Amino acid sequence: MIKTGRKLDKSLFVRFTNKMTAAGVQRSLPTSGPRSARGAAFAENSNQGFNSGRALRPSAKILPEYARSHNRSLVLQTLYQVGVLSRADIARSTGLTRVTVSDLVAELISEGLVVETGQREDVRPGKPATLLQINPSAFQIIGIDLSDSSVFKGALLDLDGAILERREVALDGSTGGKATAKVLDLIAGLVPLATSPLLGIGVGSPGVVDLAGTVLSAPNLGWKNEDLQAQIAARFHVPVVVGNDANAAVLAEHSFGRAHGDMMLVKVGHGVGAGLLLDGSPLFGSRFAAGEIGHVMVGTQGGLPCVCGKVGCLETWLSVPRLDAALAEARKAGVPETEVLAEAGRHLGIALAAIVGALNLAEIVLSGPTRLLDGPLAEATIDTLRSRTMAEFHGDLNLRMTTLGEDIVLRGAAVMVLSGQLGVS
Ligand SMILES: [Zn+2]
Repeated sequence: MIKTGRKLDKSLFVRFTNKMTAAGVQRSLPTSGPRSARGAAFAENSNQGFNSGRALRPSAKILPEYARSHNRSLVLQTLYQVGVLSRADIARSTGLTRVTVSDLVAELISEGLVVETGQREDVRPGKPATLLQINPSAFQIIGIDLSDSSVFKGALLDLDGAILERREVALDGSTGGKATAKVLDLIAGLVPLATSPLLGIGVGSPGVVDLAGTVLSAPNLGWKNEDLQAQIAARFHVPVVVGNDANAAVLAEHSFGRAHGDMMLVKVGHGVGAGLLLDGSPLFGSRFAAGEIGHVMVGTQGGLPCVCGKVGCLETWLSVPRLDAALAEARKAGVPETEVLAEAGRHLGIALAAIVGALNLAEIVLSGPTRLLDGPLAEATIDTLRSRTMAEFHGDLNLRMTTLGEDIVLRGAAVMVLSGQLGVS
């Protein structure tokens, strides 16, 4: 069941600003028919990718020519976020008329996306309201996580983001075309496992990824201008979205972790990256490298040399290999491990303070090994942030670990598909 009982939080709703995208949602949605026909319908839009400046969640009415597809997304989003509602509830939440809601719901039911779940036990007189919810098994999604340095992970998910099947393929040091071939093999192994039509394939990749799903640069995988999204779409003929892994993770946290719409997710692994949401919209930046804070130097007091050639980058304090090495050294020298972790946390706090100050973020979420991040490191980060920002504006900043664990990129990859194809997140 999709988020049953979750209260509708209007502050989380944001505007659907790109009208063409609103129209695209309708156009790209498959209708009933044999699977091959659906595949053909998908192929037209199979390369749509992320949309710059497009908010994740629609909330308000728009121009008449785009109204139907927009309102359809509005109904779906309301159901997706709240769970179980009657037609009258949806009309109240969205501001749409009862007639419009009934018409759109009829269409969604005929497509199998929405189902009636029975009648509300009502104490009020009159006919009890029929309840509706999104059918989480109407479609399935393939999510791919390429962020691990030794293994590519894949999963088959339902519309609720639940993982139904998992597959992995060892990287064995593959780079370039060989790494791409492993991604395609992983997807090929997941496609036959689907028991509902595929809504699409989402991929979270390390490195800098543009809005067409081309990996502009991912040094660890030896990718430069690798048109991954186009290659996957050409092979599998379903909609494909390839995005940066931290950007995928921030979407997962927003959809499934109940994160605030103004937040930053810091992903600590082999490297350090971040995804940003502002007013519920993902931030990509002028060269698609928003959130690439790993190679920003922290402070002015030097530090260790970094692979990028600079000294004292955030990554040299915080990446998992660097932290593990520092902890091993501390143990040898008899220095408490908590000191090493707190020192890393202080550097993260310094790096984040200006970002929090500039963007007035409400929340920072950490994703990575709990043994390293949760505890002295997180405490030092928040203490540093508090001491370096204005309490009046930033005092209620929340810093926490993700609740989504290691599946965060897989589930975020699914959100990219949900958002692109159904307009829900
Ligand atoms: Zn660096």
